[in-house]
Amino acid sequence: MLVLLRKLKMKIIPVVRRLLGKPVLKLNKTKISRIVREYGDTWSYYVEPIGQGEPFKAGQFIHLMAPGGEVSHKFVRHMSVASLPTETELLFSMDLSSGTPYKTLFKKAKVGTEVLYFALAGSFTLEGVAPGSHIVFIAGGIGITPMRCLIRDIESNKRDIRWELFHVGREYLYKDDFQIYSDRYRQLGRDGVEAMLDEAASRGGQTWYFISGSHSFVEDLSAGLQKRGIAEERIKLEDFSH
Ligand SMILES: Cc1cc2nc3c(=O)[nH]c(=O)nc-3n(C[C@H](O)[C@H](O)[C@H](O)COP(=O)(O)OP(=O)(O)OC[C@H]3O[C@@H](n4cnc5c(N)ncnc54)[C@H](O)[C@@H]3O)c2cc1C
Repeated sequence: MLVLLRKLKMKIIPVVRRLLGKPVLKLNKTKISRIVREYGDTWSYYVEPIGQGEPFKAGQFIHLMAPGGEVSHKFVRHMSVASLPTETELLFSMDLSSGTPYKTLFKKAKVGTEVLYFALAGSFTLEGVAPGSHIVFIAGGIGITPMRCLIRDIESNKRDIRWELFHVGREYLYKDDFQIYSDRYRQLGRDGVEAMLDEAASRGGQTWYFISGSHSFVEDLSAGLQKRGIAEERIKLEDFSH
């Protein structure tokens, strides 16, 4: 349902902009400033923000076009911004192993390559999380990207929010960033999920659960928490699957 709505939005926005006499899409132009191979075929791309930077909330995603591609489903993907709005570079990380035309163009990209993006969006944010709350972040693989941004937001703005992070995977993107929070950061494999859910569900009180990753991951973990008595309203999901 969510996926259909997103696709519909991509079709409706150009029509509305055309009716208002505006350019069909407001494309932001930027350049790749750094490329880092994280592990295997997972890469991080740092791009220069325009002017004072795009206004966005921590946890949101962007419509990122493949370098040299056109505005079409083939060459546009949702990508969570892993850096803070106030940082001097925007960071995106992605797994290129699918070898789709989109990922192939990113594989060919170099420092200095031009990249276009548009329409920041998303509700996987701290909106509605009251001061004094506790957040359990649960990431599946590449689903860690929006959480890097959310955690940096909490820490650098000294928000009155306690958090802990469980990263489920085989490799752990951004592990160096989280190493300093060794008391709140846990890496685990699929076989550790049930025990982790038992522990996470025992937090009680003002706890929020943020889960991101593939469709099956967010669905399974959300169902697992609800089976353990967590109310659906306390769970925020970012489903990476289209
Ligand atoms: C809110 C949101 C945030 C996201 N943030 C990130 C992020 O930070 N990082 C990130 O990496 N991803 C993110 N995603 C997912 C991203 O948008 C892409 O969906 C994902 O990277 C897969 O894109 P793709 O081009 O590799 O595969 P897609 O073209 O989307 O295809 C999905 C799968 O189908 C397979 N496939 C495609 N075409 C064919 C074919 N013709 N025959 C057989 N198999 C095929 C591919 O192997 C691939 O595994 C996010 C998604 C959402 C919704």
